[in-house]
Amino acid sequence: MSILDFIQEKLSTTGNAVAKKTMDIADLTKASIRLATEEEKLEKVFAEIGKIYYEQYKNDPDARLKGYIAQVELMNEQLEELRTAIHALKREQPCTKCKMAVKNDAKFCSNCGAQNINYREEE
Ligand SMILES: [Zn+2]
Repeated sequence: MSILDFIQEKLSTTGNAVAKKTMDIADLTKASIRLATEEEKLEKVFAEIGKIYYEQYKNDPDARLKGYIAQVELMNEQLEELRTAIHALKREQPCTKCKMAVKNDAKFCSNCGAQNINYREEE
């Protein structure tokens, strides 16, 4: 084998190795993205199961889940406090009928037409 043939073969082999490595990296990337996507879907399914369980058994949960139920109750209270604070900052409150935000200075809900029982003219 001449030195030129040797170099040519080396280059070709190296080229294939690089191409193979590039293919491997592309496959690995695709597989990793697919794995992350499928894991995310599974988490959503588990979350849905949790919501269904919570709605059905929140008043009489399995002993192992009582802590989680209490955690959900506490978080819901905190979320409600935050919603109320945001409504106050935006000078609005939820409609008593449909729960859509109604400005304090609006006489009626723009969504359902219910009277705003908290109506007051803005200063
Ligand atoms: Zn309404």
